[in-house]
Amino acid sequence: MDETYTTKAIVLNRQPYRENDSRVTVCSLEYGKLVLIARGTATTKSKMAGHIEPFCFSDFMIVRGKCHSYIGGVASQNCFSAIKSDLSKLRIVGQVIAVINKLVKENEADSRLFFLLHDFLEFLDNNDIKEETIDFFIHAFVLKLMSGLGYEPELRVCVACGKELKPENNSFDFSRGGLVCGLCQAQNSTIIKNDTIKLLRCMVKEKFIDLQKLKYDKKISDEAIKNIILFYNYTHPGAGDFK
Ligand SMILES: [Zn+2]
Repeated sequence: MDETYTTKAIVLNRQPYRENDSRVTVCSLEYGKLVLIARGTATTKSKMAGHIEPFCFSDFMIVRGKCHSYIGGVASQNCFSAIKSDLSKLRIVGQVIAVINKLVKENEADSRLFFLLHDFLEFLDNNDIKEETIDFFIHAFVLKLMSGLGYEPELRVCVACGKELKPENNSFDFSRGGLVCGLCQAQNSTIIKNDTIKLLRCMVKEKFIDLQKLKYDKKISDEAIKNIILFYNYTHPGAGDFK
């Protein structure tokens, strides 16, 4: 007999599979990223199709088969309709899902990823996002995701000497995974502004709703974003550029 189990999960993407089926990638609460087959979704009678749209949050009943796992039943909890009707929010979600698909491997259980994505979708669904903060939130998500996957940058003590950083002359050493103080850094290192360091710390630790309340200069958020991109590209060289 086939084994069945249930889990809450968020759909990451859905592609046509064979003649009438779909191949659905989800981020589940208990089992991490899963690839599932949904049968008969291309037929007009399919009750399942509406519950497996991208970034829908649903309860899944999954049947473990020999080669694939199949969706036995699904009931949506929240399809985040305010995101679906807003092109800017769709662009944000599209970008973060692409990064999740690149960085997260299948079948590695990690409930933090589920909660990070769920919190982010709820935040986007319930709040207005100013056009000029779109990039900031995409990169805050990526920094939180990387931190959850074991790449949290060290932003409080020097990664070379271990001393607490003073608020001046620090630079980011991507190969060592964090900041180095003025005494330890190599010549010609690019000094990172102290306000940028503070903003990066907030991006790692604070909830999205609290990040929205922060006041910062555009130069500061641009420098933070630039460092996140460089760190991402350094730690994930095969993942392709992330802009
Ligand atoms: Zn040092």
